[in-house]
Amino acid sequence: MDLFEHQARQLFEENGILVPRAETADTAEEARFAAERLGGRVVVKAQVKTGGRGKAGGVKLAADPAAAHITARQILGMDIKGHTVRTVMIAEPVGIEAEFYVSYVLDRAAGRFLAIASAEGGMEIEEVAASRPEAVARLTIDPKVGVTAAKAAEIAAAAGLPAATADTLVKLWRVLVREDALLVEVNPLVRTAQGEILALDGKITLDDNARFRQARWGSEQEVRDGDLEATAAAKGLNYVKLDGEVGIIGNGAGLVMSTLDVVAGCGARPANFLDIGGGASAEVMADGLSVVLSDPSVRSVLVNVFGGITACDAVADGIVQALESVRLTKPLVVRLDGNNAARGRAVLDARAHPLVQQATTMDGAARRAADLAHAR
Ligand code: ADP
Ligand code: MG
Repeated sequence: MDLFEHQARQLFEENGILVPRAETADTAEEARFAAERLGGRVVVKAQVKTGGRGKAGGVKLAADPAAAHITARQILGMDIKGHTVRTVMIAEPVGIEAEFYVSYVLDRAAGRFLAIASAEGGMEIEEVAASRPEAVARLTIDPKVGVTAAKAAEIAAAAGLPAATADTLVKLWRVLVREDALLVEVNPLVRTAQGEILALDGKITLDDNARFRQARWGSEQEVRDGDLEATAAAKGLNYVKLDGEVGIIGNGAGLVMSTLDVVAGCGARPANFLDIGGGASAEVMADGLSVVLSDPSVRSVLVNVFGGITACDAVADGIVQALESVRLTKPLVVRLDGNNAARGRAVLDARAHPLVQQATTMDGAARRAADLAHAR
């Protein structure tokens, strides 16, 4: 589970990492009061579980409480990469002298953690890594040893960070261990004119296997926060948001993953990954379709089902059922094969919805869905 920035900020603070003073607000009124308490001039920050908020207009400076009110009103309700902003964080503005990047992430293949750090923080690290790979340092961390003062100094030196960041690097490791995190990322970690090191942004991914001892961040809260992944999880669906434009529904993780590849091979980008699982009922199909269609970046949807335990006619019934409750505004390409495929296709033919097309092969279906996404 990913935490919101304000939750990450709280964990940083509890572990002695310097962070700007901040409060959260769910309404523009609350934002104004928070700004008054924080001294007037503030940064208003969208709280959504995705990066690039700054670029999307979700991080803005407000000169005084009245401006904070107006800015919060603009940002609340905004859609950032398919995530609706329900809360903003009102933070004290920090005079930034330099921005750095630092993260610790589990490297499953190596059975180790990886420290990634760069003196070129602020922007997206993927861009830095692509254009100037030498500017990004990667060091292995032995989980049994962790980030000691010596290791922290080594990370800082390798990335060209000031030696003064080492103390924060040790504390960030402590956050990862105490909170059972798989990822702790700070971008930017900044140095102020006074030489202080502050975490201005934070992303923490907790290990769901440790949820039983991290009860503090309950799952109900996520559902209230209204993001689609949580809504899907509450319905027992395995849904992952991606960055493209073709919505993808399939049965079984293997089939869904190969569908992603085939769609990518057709020059389109998957907008999401939704596995309705084996033995999926009509209701599950209807739930899945409504989740995928709620993602505003979806331009076409590909349903790829190979009927085994799941009979294709049940899937087709689910699609027909979903068409009753969800108003279809985007083209849907359906490929049914395997158990009861002929009956499933007949069900969809009988429904004859103008936006629903069928394809007999996976490649054909992917090509059609990609073309439809590009045509819109
Ligand atoms: P994101 O990474 O989602 O775009 P950030 O929290 O990193 O969001 O904010 C984007 C940029 O805004 C930061 O790189 C930093 O330059 C600036 N910023 C964020 N918070 C503050 C703050 N409290 N004071 C001053 N500048 C800030
Ligand atoms: Mg950031």
